[in-house]
Amino acid sequence: MSNLAVGVDIELSTDQARYLAQVMRRGVGDPILLFNGRDGEWQGALTSLSKKSATMHLEHQTRSQDNERELRLLFAPIKRTATDLIVQKATELGVTVLQPVITQHTNSDRVRTDRLKAIAMEAAEQCCRMMVPDVCEPIALSDAVTDWPDGDVLFVMDETGGGDPVADVMSETACRNAGGAAFVVGPEGGFSETELDLLRSLPFSKSVSLGPRILRADTAALVTLTCWQALCGDWRRDL
Ligand code: SAH
Repeated sequence: MSNLAVGVDIELSTDQARYLAQVMRRGVGDPILLFNGRDGEWQGALTSLSKKSATMHLEHQTRSQDNERELRLLFAPIKRTATDLIVQKATELGVTVLQPVITQHTNSDRVRTDRLKAIAMEAAEQCCRMMVPDVCEPIALSDAVTDWPDGDVLFVMDETGGGDPVADVMSETACRNAGGAAFVVGPEGGFSETELDLLRSLPFSKSVSLGPRILRADTAALVTLTCWQALCGDWRRDL
């Protein structure tokens, strides 16, 4: 989408036009809020609207772009509704990148990223974020942990009990870590021993335990993100 500034006229997409006309029941002259992930949030008025097209004229910026800390979730695709849930809730919880990873026990390596992108877009709008997380194409787990960005920490959700309590790990080190944070959760079949050995061997990884019970992958992903935001992330005011 083009840059957003005072007086700019924006051509909206067919999907956006249909959403405004048929779901939101908007009309010409109605105020609309718009973001593009770079220029903050802008208010403008609809200048034309049909089921196929819409244009709007930008009037003023309502919120400046907040630079969200890089939070990446690496997740093995699971059943469709559970994967949809991970994408939706991780978006609400502030994830900036959603990276499907194919592991030894992954039971569905076909990921409909177009579908997941639409879910992420809708969730971002619903929770008033000014950016939509990137939804990447699936890659092998081993590829996802190569060329790792300097300074980023990777929390490994280890269901075998090989990790330390998640709150301790996050509070002890990672909160003060200036880099980004990443989280990796396994599939319904869990990580293989080889994968756990690989993940534990990485200099930037920290294995975390989410307690004595075996959680579903979607539960594990979302509770770990919750811990992060509550202990180290943007749910705090002092970090
Ligand atoms: N089938 C496996 C469980 C897999 S649960 C078994 O029965 O052992 C799916 C993923 O959720 C795991 O790979 C892990 O990443 C995460 N997970 C589930 N429970 C967890 C726990 N108590 N601690 C840390 N990670 C957990």
